[in-house]
Amino acid sequence: MGTSKPQGSFVHCSVWGSLELHIYPDALAVVGASAPDQPAILNRPHAAARAARFFVEKFPGRSLYAVKANPSPDLLRILWDAGVTHYDVASIAEVRLVRSTLPEATLCFMHPVKTPSAVREAYAQYGVRVFSLDSIEELEKIRIATTEANGGEAPEDLTLCVRLRVSSEYSELSLASKFGCDLTGAGELLQATRQVADSLGICFHVGSQSMSPHAYVQALERARAAIVDAAVTVDIIDVGGGFPSIYPGMEPPPLEDYFAVIDRTYESLPVSYSAELWCEPGRALCAEYNSIIVQVDKRRGTELYINDGAYGALFDAAHVGWRFPVKVLRAGANDDDAPAMEPFSFYGPTCDDMDHMDGPFELPADIKAGDYIEIGMLGAYGAAMKTVFNGFGATDVFEVTDEPMSSQYRGDRRDPRVTDNVVSLR
Ligand SMILES: *Cc1c(COP(=O)(O)O)cnc(C)c1O
Repeated sequence: MGTSKPQGSFVHCSVWGSLELHIYPDALAVVGASAPDQPAILNRPHAAARAARFFVEKFPGRSLYAVKANPSPDLLRILWDAGVTHYDVASIAEVRLVRSTLPEATLCFMHPVKTPSAVREAYAQYGVRVFSLDSIEELEKIRIATTEANGGEAPEDLTLCVRLRVSSEYSELSLASKFGCDLTGAGELLQATRQVADSLGICFHVGSQSMSPHAYVQALERARAAIVDAAVTVDIIDVGGGFPSIYPGMEPPPLEDYFAVIDRTYESLPVSYSAELWCEPGRALCAEYNSIIVQVDKRRGTELYINDGAYGALFDAAHVGWRFPVKVLRAGANDDDAPAMEPFSFYGPTCDDMDHMDGPFELPADIKAGDYIEIGMLGAYGAAMKTVFNGFGATDVFEVTDEPMSSQYRGDRRDPRVTDNVVSLR
């Protein structure tokens, strides 16, 4: 996968090729050393490790990593080394990937709609014992497939989590319509699942980038109603993902606030004495891990044609108007006599009109073709989403040691509770 670049000592590799990386202090140093003519992904291992340690130490239960947010094997190893032992996987390919990267990890297959062959393979070959479901049909599928995988005997080691539908009203990206059983059917499904499961859980997802801790309280109250209705013993409460990162116009309350209300509400639930509390963050564990360097190929008024876009790491910027922090990579960009800032929009490199990112992205008024821009906070659902559509998508990868453009974990944030910071994009 990797080929050495002709000049310089650094290594050039495709997106997840994990070759030896030359380490630079920051994006400006990367540009100075290599002037990359294709987008460059920057890894910040220290930021991912810090996020993982934060969850491991402060979340009042177990933190799983939701692999779909960024499946980079390098990142998986960083999270493992920082104490994350359980991984939320959603496809058999993710099961194989995590198992081959982290042989001792506990894998939890949390997609509520799976194929029988994926369930069989996961159970028999990869030791997966945790599955989620949101219908009687899926329960039956898991029961049959795991029995087959267990040599014809009903397994006695299944952990099954019933996915509840909950509101996404506090989140920037909804996950409310596709999965989850409604409260009306939850009692029956919990009772049926209790018959099959050695350990019974309830899980949900409040939507991604949840801007208020109250989202979890509301969802946990639904879980309470379901437990009371079903009158079954519940062993796991899994509050899912949705923990926010910081983006322009979206500064959420501190994560400690989320953890505190989750802890308090969980402690009041009628669950078994030995019950466990789980969460499954994706975004919050990896958003700070990556930024990218792009180059301006052309300027047309306030529109910049850059070499990455909707089919690259900027899917969310194009399709849901997500705003990512940007900065121009020039020596002296922060000097007093630096030019004034202006709002710009971006076009990506493909021939598709939809390859457009509205922003607005604040950049110096004199920005021009040839300039480099760093786009931050692309570790979650950014770096992982790159395609090779239209022949674009080749990427260099570098490691840098500076801080991400914003951080939930640096400990120097002003207390956002004193400001009205819950700003919606829409
Ligand atoms: C996507 C997903 C997550 C992670 O969500 P974030 O908003 O990135 O934290 C967790 N659990 C499930 C089931 C998911 O589908």
